Amino acid sequence: MINADAQELAKFSELAHRWWDPDSEFRPLHRINPLRLEWIDGLAALRGKAVLDVGCGGGILAESMAPLARTVTGIDLASRPLGVARLHALETGVANLNYREIAAEALAAEQPSAFDVVTSMEMLEHVPDPASVVRACATLVRPGGWVFFSTLNRNPKAFALAIVAAEYLLRLLPRGTHEFARFIRPSELARWCREAGLVVETSRGIEYNPFTQRYGLTADTSVNYLLACRRPG
Ligand code: SAH
Repeated sequence: MINADAQELAKFSELAHRWWDPDSEFRPLHRINPLRLEWIDGLAALRGKAVLDVGCGGGILAESMAPLARTVTGIDLASRPLGVARLHALETGVANLNYREIAAEALAAEQPSAFDVVTSMEMLEHVPDPASVVRACATLVRPGGWVFFSTLNRNPKAFALAIVAAEYLLRLLPRGTHEFARFIRPSELARWCREAGLVVETSRGIEYNPFTQRYGLTADTSVNYLLACRRPG
C-alpha cells in the first residue's frame, strides 16, 4: 500500500503549470520560501550537504536550496509538479538538483541514512499516514543530521485563518486546498518525531499579516509552523 491520497495528488497536478507564477495559488509558498530557507540554513548549515526534499512539488524550496547545498534531491508522488520542477531547474541551469517520483517510505528502504538534511514542508497535512512519512524521514537522514517539517496546526484559530480566511475571504488558496481534520498539532508531530527516534530541537510559527500582506517567523505556532529535529549522532 502506498501512503498517498490520489485526490490530493490530482489537485496539485491540476495546478502544476502555475507553480512558478509568483501571483498564482502558489504565492504563499513563494512568499514564505526565503523565510524557511534562511531558518533551515541557519540551523543545519546547508553548505556541502546532501539534502532531500520530500513532497517537493514544483521545486520552490528544493531549487532554492541547491545553490547552498552540495546536492538536492526532490521527491513527490504527483508527476506534473515534478515535470514542472525538472523544467524549471533546466531553465535556471541548476546542475546539482535531481527529482524523482518515489514515496518517502520506498526511498527510505533504498537509501537509509543517505542524507545530511531532510525537509518536508506543507506536505504532511495532505498524506493519509503522516507518521509513516516522519518515520521515513528519520530513516533517510544520517545520524547527526537534521529533519525539518512544516504543516498546519489543528485548532479553531487555524481553521479560521488557514481555511476560512485563506481560502474563502482573502482567496490566497483555492477552496478545498486544505482539510481541517488532517491538520496536525505540534504535540502530535513532536510525538511522531520522538517515536521515530528524532530529537525535537526547536519550532517557529509562520504568520501572515493581511494588512501589510507580509509573512514572518514568530514564536506563535498556533496556525502554520515549522519543526526542526535531529537524529542523534
Ligand atoms: N513542499 C513544497 C510543496 C508543498 S505542496 C513546498 O513547500 O514548496 C504539497 C506537495 O505534497 C504537493 O507537491 C503534493 O503532490 C505532495 N504530496 C501530497 N501527498 C504526497 C505523498 N503522499 N507523497 C509525496 N508527496 C505528496
